[in-house]
Amino acid sequence: MMQARWWKKNEINGDIVSCNLCFRSCNIRQGCSGKCGVRFNKDGVLISPCLGKFCACAIDPVKKKPLFHWNSEKFIYSLGSVGCTMDCPFCQNHSIAFPARALYGETVGTSEFAIDELISNVKGSGLNLVAFTYNEPTLQAEYICEVVPMLHEAGISVTLVTNGAMSHEAAKDLISCLDENDAANIDIKAFNPETYKTLGGELDTVKKNIELFINAGIHVELTNLVVTGLNDNIEEFASMVDWIASISDEIPLHITRYFPARNYNKPPTNIEFLYSLASVAKAKLKHVHIGNV
Ligand code: SF4
Repeated sequence: MMQARWWKKNEINGDIVSCNLCFRSCNIRQGCSGKCGVRFNKDGVLISPCLGKFCACAIDPVKKKPLFHWNSEKFIYSLGSVGCTMDCPFCQNHSIAFPARALYGETVGTSEFAIDELISNVKGSGLNLVAFTYNEPTLQAEYICEVVPMLHEAGISVTLVTNGAMSHEAAKDLISCLDENDAANIDIKAFNPETYKTLGGELDTVKKNIELFINAGIHVELTNLVVTGLNDNIEEFASMVDWIASISDEIPLHITRYFPARNYNKPPTNIEFLYSLASVAKAKLKHVHIGNV
């Protein structure tokens, strides 16, 4: 079991630990976990048993992440674990992001990667790219901060496919171990703070983190999953595009189609509507892509 890095003892009640890995800032009682389900208070210490353990491991095309402007013709060694820092009812990867509590231990225990083992697996597959993906990679932040410098030394670049909801401190620490050869695909799930709240997220945090990654020189592409009845609002979408363009019109935007999953059963996104959103985006951004159609 590995001790977590971004936490402190609660100042009023020392039996409670306050996690600062993501915007949720959970106060966690002895024996309990935070909202992500994978960080626990064990005897007044925050631990994360899933660190370095992955239940999903595959070799994917880079374009599947989606990243279309970073090593886009290559394949990438992709790792996912369990848990998420948000709570989207339509999560497309809910079987690992939100496994039944009783299954967390089993799910997590399937593959533990020592760092040298990870490097030899990647190299042995003839690859030089690693993605932390499928579930929220922030929950592997301690492992990522440890492993990335060694991956770099071995000539391997990294991408994080993330919801961007990590705390400012965690974002800065994660960014400090990345370099200009690395990338992130960051979800921007809506452009309305209230909608973000219904997904267990916080728009302001995500916007700040997107700017932090971009200003640090990391290659960033954004993904907006257009969910029927949730964020399929053309005015809000246009505001989001304006905000992205105000940072840079070079930032790639992936507009992707939703399909019913987890607890959300509205019909898949109308394809013609996706194309009309793409027209709005193309008026302001140079790289607009439609996905999942
Ligand atoms: S990572 Fe986020 S959700 Fe998990 S315990 Fe920490 S603050 Fe809570």
